[in-house]
Parts: sequence; structure tokens; C-alpha cells
Amino acid sequence: MQQLAIFGGTFDPIHWGHLLIGETALHQVPVEQIIWVPSLNPPHKQAALFEHRVAMLQQATQDRPGFTVSLIETNRSGTSYAINTLIDLSAAYPKTHWYWIVGLDAFQTLPHWYRGHELAQMCDWLIAPRLLGGETIAQSELICKQVEQELINQSVSIRWQLLHIPLVGVSSSLIRQLIRVRQSIRYLVPEAVRLYIAAHNLYSK
Ligand code: ATP
Repeated sequence: MQQLAIFGGTFDPIHWGHLLIGETALHQVPVEQIIWVPSLNPPHKQAALFEHRVAMLQQATQDRPGFTVSLIETNRSGTSYAINTLIDLSAAYPKTHWYWIVGLDAFQTLPHWYRGHELAQMCDWLIAPRLLGGETIAQSELICKQVEQELINQSVSIRWQLLHIPLVGVSSSLIRQLIRVRQSIRYLVPEAVRLYIAAHNLYSK
């Protein structure tokens, strides 16, 4: 059975934090591919045009065998829910053991995702620790255990592990904010992404 990992996100825009997470996952677990899935209509977020987000994602990942960008979300209308992504990808890649990559902030809310209890049990979870309120790796582990306990209390079992990445404070919102105040985003995103943003005048207002 093949093993694949899904990395879903808004990627508005993709940054080095995302790429480091994907790279770490490729090395830490025996997956053949990381499938990057930009969400078309993310819940709770307004994002730049899907076409722009996809173009930046493709440019940032094209040199890395093992990274694939999936446009599976374009086949669906309405809000992009993770469970639908997994169901659709399972049809496209049958006989697959799935991992799902997620940041700590998003993982904390998993019990409240649409059909989150079902989704929790359908794949293994790879959690990227994230600097939220000055968390250390030990605190990240504690937070994950609390999420696991919350699910167990509702008779849901979950398999998870932390990704061994250095804590990185970069986020897409930081990048958008820097652009708005005309500060440099060099070294926060791949150079091709920086040039794409400048060429299309993204995020400046
Ligand atoms: P925004 O700042 O707009 O909320 P983001 O930087 O969180 O965006 P997303 O595309 O929403 O980017 O993230 C996709 C996934 O990657 C989410 O699960 C998020 O938690 C995780 N993630 C993003 N950046 C980091 C980071 N620096 N460290 C750990 N996880 C991250």
C-alpha cells in the first residue's frame, strides 16, 4: 500500500515555513509524496484569487520531487472542507495510507471541524509545532495530548506525531502585513514567489 501525505492550506501566499514542514514530513515518515492542496473557498478566511495562490505554490514546489500540487478542490463548489478533500483524494489514489499535515493552531480546532471526528480517524496526523504564544516543543506536545484526550472522551481515537521542525514564526498574514506597509519579504518566501507577488501587485492594499 502506498503512503501519501496531504498538506492542505490557504497558501496565501506559500512561505518558507510551509516548505520546511513539507520537507520535514518527507524525511520523517515513509511517504512517497506530499500532496499540497490549496483550498478554493477556505472556511473562515478570505483569500487572494485561487489562480494566484496556485501559481505561487507551483513555482515554489516545482523543483522538489516528492511535492505535488493537487487542484482537486476545483471540482467542488461551496466551502472547502478537509473531509471532502480526503474523500476525493482517496478516490483518485486508491489503496493509500494517508497522513494529514497540519499546524498546531489548526490541529487544536480539529474536534470542531466539519465531520472532524470522522476525519480524525481516517488518517495519521503530522503536526507542525508553531510559535503561537511562545510555545516550546514540550508545550506543543501537551496541547496535542489535550486534543487527543478531548477526542477520546468522545470515543474518537487518533494517531498523531509532532514534526521535528525548528519553530518558525513566519505566517502568510505576516507576509501580507509586511507588503501592506511596504517592508521586505525577501527570505520569508522563495524568490520566485516574491517576484510573482511584485509582478501581480498582490497584497498591497
Ligand atoms: P495565515 O497567516 O493567513 O493564517 P498560515 O501562514 O497559517 O496563514 P495556511 O496556508 O493557512 O498559512 O497554513 C496551512 C497550514 O500550515 C496550517 O495548518 C497552518 O497551521 C500551518 N502553518 C503555516 N505556517 C506555519 C508555521 N510557521 N509553523 C507551523 N505551522 C504552520
